[in-house]
This record gives sequence, structure tokens and C-alpha cells, in this order.
Amino acid sequence: MSQELLEVRNLKKHFKTRDGILYAVDGIDLSIKGGETLGLVGESGCGKSTAGRAILRLHEPTSGEVIYKGNNILKYSKGEMKKLRKEMQIVFQDPYTSLNPRMNVQQLIEYPLKIATDYSAVDRLDRVLEMMEVTGLEQRLIDAYPHELDGGRRQRIGIARALILNPSFIVMDEPVSALDVSIQAQILNLLMELREKNGYTYLFISHNLSVVKHISDRIAVMYLGKLVEAADYKTLFANPLHPYTKALLASIPRAKPGTSVQGNILTGDVPSPVNPPAGCRFSGRCAYAKPVCTEEEPKLRQVGESQVACHLVS
Ligand code: SF4
Repeated sequence: MSQELLEVRNLKKHFKTRDGILYAVDGIDLSIKGGETLGLVGESGCGKSTAGRAILRLHEPTSGEVIYKGNNILKYSKGEMKKLRKEMQIVFQDPYTSLNPRMNVQQLIEYPLKIATDYSAVDRLDRVLEMMEVTGLEQRLIDAYPHELDGGRRQRIGIARALILNPSFIVMDEPVSALDVSIQAQILNLLMELREKNGYTYLFISHNLSVVKHISDRIAVMYLGKLVEAADYKTLFANPLHPYTKALLASIPRAKPGTSVQGNILTGDVPSPVNPPAGCRFSGRCAYAKPVCTEEEPKLRQVGESQVACHLVS
């Protein structure tokens, strides 16, 4: 693996709402090496998709730094960001709503080329056909519209469109969660093949730890705007430290009875990020909470091979 391609430092994204400030992402640090896949997991509403979008400045961050290839891109002008967009792309969760229903397959895939390059129509078509082959889309579908295609093919369009400009870094925002289980495996295999062949770096966002396990080198666990644990995927699965990570792992269905990870099954929902609990944000759902947990916020710190934010882990 090479040097850090991307470093995120104390990134925050807050939204003003009628009820107050929504702390969607509240000071996270991440680093991703070139060619590496970092899985970012957590329940729905924990801020992981907002984090992915803030890194790409699709949501303008409130504060922090996003260092890409050594430069803080939050200081980039609009023009500089436009050039950078070729290198930093996103694949969205729901291929149906993220595709313009009035565009056919060719128009959808070639759109980034039209915006960001001066390719001729012939060159664009060549590149579209190449990307259709790479992503396993049959050429006969080139004039088809999204509503004529199944979910797997629609997501292949989303992937082809994200990759057509030869990016280095791609945010995969729940790219398989809207797909049937049988198609999920096909798309995951495609993403892994493409990464091996082209050296892409992924930030792979998912609520599903078993999906993330398949594709990630390292995994970061997020809860209510904060990172609570990060480790390489083997360490995280073999020796989860944070009670929230343990609960997420315990909730994964097991093929063999009696092989579940020890941990309380999660109950209740993620609290509102408008008024997050004081101290540890997981305290209201944590079976191990002590008085200190509601008084002091646990910081992310190194424990063995993991980073963890919990007062009781040593
Ligand atoms: Fe549970 Fe306390 Fe650890 Fe938070 S800090 S996860 S409440 S034990």
C-alpha cells in the first residue's frame, strides 16, 4: 500500500434546522491510503453518508480539513474543485433516483465527459462503449432508459458514470443496499475487480457490516456524528472493543448457530443528532454505561491495534 491519499481532520458538518443545530458529522478523523478501501459503517442516521458528501464538498463542511494528495481541498476555489471532480467521484445508493429518467444509457454515462472534457461525440461514444463493457452492461442497452432496466443494471450505469473520468478516489455510498441480495454479490465483485485492475481507492459506506467486511481493508464505525472505533477488518471482526461495534456484530445473522459475537443486541433508535446526549453519545443504549459516560465525552484513542472511544475499554 502507498501513502495516505486522503486525510480527514476534525471534519464537521452541521445543519441549521427549525429545532436547532443538527450535528450530522461532529469532528471525525479518517485516513485512506492509495489503493485502500475504508469501510464506514453505522446505522441509518449516524452521519456516514453526510461525511462522504462533505469529503467531496457536495455538502460544504462546517469546519475541518480534507487533505487530498497533500492539499486541503476545503480551501480550493470553485474552478479548482471543478478540475478535482474528475479525480473524486461518488456512486449513490439508489440508482433509480440518482439517474435522470429522461436520459438514455449513453447520455447518462457520457454526461461527466460532456461537463469536464472537450471530447468529440465520437470519442465520447467510444468511451461509453468501453465503460459499458468494463461494467458488464450489454451494448444493446445503449438506448434504453432507466425505467426499462433492473436495479443491478441501473447501478452498473452509476458505476460506469463515476469511473468514466478515471478517478482515483470514489465514495461508494451504500452502492448495493437498494439491490436484491443475488445482485449485491455481482456488484460487489465488480467493484473489487475494478479496484484490483485500476488501483482505485474507495470510501465504502454501508449500514451492513457483512457487506463492508467483504470489500474493506479497514473499517471505521460511526455513531451519531462521531467515530467510535476503527481497525483493520480482521481485528475489528475478531476483537471488537466498543459496545456499539459489538452490538452491530451481534446483530449479523450467522450461518452456524452458536457462533454469534458476544454483545447486546441493539434496541431503540439512534437519538436525534439535534440534541445529542451529553458525554458518550451511545450512553442511552449502552448496557455497560457508568456515571462517567454521561459526564465526559470519550475520545478516540489507540488501544492495541484498534482506535476506540469508550471509557471502559483499556
Ligand atoms: Fe458505553 Fe460508556 Fe463506553 Fe459509551 S463510554 S460505549 S456508554 S461504556
